[in-house]
Amino acid sequence: MKKNVLITGGTRGIGKATVYELANKGNNIAFTYNKSQEIADKLVLELSQKYPNQQFIANKCNVANTMAMEQFVEQACKSFNGDIDIVICNAGIVRDGLFITLTDNDWEEIIDTNIKGTYITIRSVLFEFMKKKKGNIIIVSSVAGVAGNYGQTNYSTTKAGIIGLTKSLAKEVGQLGIRVNAVAPGFISTDMVKDIEGEIKEKYLDRIALKRTGQPDEVAKVISFLTSEDSSYITGQVIQIDGGLSL
Ligand code: NAP
Repeated sequence: MKKNVLITGGTRGIGKATVYELANKGNNIAFTYNKSQEIADKLVLELSQKYPNQQFIANKCNVANTMAMEQFVEQACKSFNGDIDIVICNAGIVRDGLFITLTDNDWEEIIDTNIKGTYITIRSVLFEFMKKKKGNIIIVSSVAGVAGNYGQTNYSTTKAGIIGLTKSLAKEVGQLGIRVNAVAPGFISTDMVKDIEGEIKEKYLDRIALKRTGQPDEVAKVISFLTSEDSSYITGQVIQIDGGLSL
């Protein structure tokens, strides 16, 4: 059945693969981005031509900006002629460095996007979910939030933080029929990790049981499962998609 989906950060990497996957499943999709307007416009055009009976809209919208997110949700609901059914909090950034070298800015920016952005995205739809007694929230965390990672104290903090949010919110809203789950990807080949090359990449590959990096669509398919009725009794969980990196 066609659902109305909101995805943050739909222009690249995991978010873009998720947009493709859920479009292919017959859904209407509203996605945000931060800078990539050209990619967003192309994607909306491509999907609108491929799936003429579905709606696709995109907006430049910083996840950490309450007013922008609320306005976008309003615009999406008008365009879909209905409320959002599924929200996927995917937008995220890294500001890597050893703890001792990190600046206040490295902490503030990442907390703003990865934690506050997730909170604001969920808040922009939660009241409607509660009124309808229905809704599905999926949060993109990271294996760094589960197991920690060298050079990523700030990033791990945010990704562990949103795991706490996932579990606590699942307990609060489960009685209203709302599910909240997270995925924790490992090393996925996207722009976010494109600078990890050479010896450092080899070291990662050595630690990954499957001896390869993951592809964005391998994460998108798990997110798609969490959006489906096949996962109807799963809530408050963190599904690791890391090829065995954290074993
Ligand atoms: P990516 O290729 O860098 O894409 C990030 C997406 O988020 C882009 O669409 C970007 O928009 C958007 N975005 C960034 N900041 C934003 C903001 N403030 N407001 C709205 N949109 C914003 O990243 P990715 O690798 O696909 O990562 C997606 C998610 O997976 C992140 O939460 C990341 O932490 C998590 N993750 C990734 C990996 C990995 O190995 N790649 C592993 C674990 C977890 P623009 O195109 O406009 O910049």
